[in-house]
Amino acid sequence: MGKLIRLRGIEVRIVFLGPPGAGKGTQAGMLTSELGYVHLSTGDMIRDEMGRGTELGKFTQTFYDKGDLVPDETVIDMIKERLAGAENVILDGFPRTVPQAASLDDQLYRIGVSLDKVIYFSVDVDELIDRLEKRRDIEGRVDDEPEAIRHRMDVYDRETAPVVDYYRDGDRVIQIDALGTIDEVRDRLIGALK
Ligand code: ADP
Repeated sequence: MGKLIRLRGIEVRIVFLGPPGAGKGTQAGMLTSELGYVHLSTGDMIRDEMGRGTELGKFTQTFYDKGDLVPDETVIDMIKERLAGAENVILDGFPRTVPQAASLDDQLYRIGVSLDKVIYFSVDVDELIDRLEKRRDIEGRVDDEPEAIRHRMDVYDRETAPVVDYYRDGDRVIQIDALGTIDEVRDRLIGALK
């Protein structure tokens, strides 16, 4: 804990990776409120654009509602400007494809910084489906309908699981067990960030 707070003085960039429903957003929100990290979630950015009914929002909606990924160029553009000026960033939901990961490396290289840690939230598929169904009941997200959930899991296996390997090759991944209560996962996460 002490170490993390001390880290606030220097720049830290962390990626949260893991399947839909693994709890990345919840944990990122916690670190943001407790430790002052900036939470950059492409899912939240997309929901914000859709909610405001912007052109970008309308464009992304067609992909989002089906549980498909929004095209790489679109999300890369969304993240670019926010990344450049931000310190102590948690990237949640980005990168989600290998080209996005390569673009992130390139963007960070250009501004002369690198990723500090990649946290991989590991969780069992049955548990995930259960969590997403509960979230649908609470938040009413259209992409948490059963058909869209299954599709997002397939998209995850096909497009995002290779991102874990991309970072593993570079030895940058710390895996944490994302099963258990929010507080248990939080403690593991803080342990992994020390
Ligand atoms: P979850 O982690 O539960 O899938 P997110 O809020 O991260 O939720 O993402 C929801 C949806 O937003 C995705 O299914 C996809 O349509 C879109 N999205 C979010 N991030 C990206 C990204 N990096 N690349 C492409 N599409 C994205």
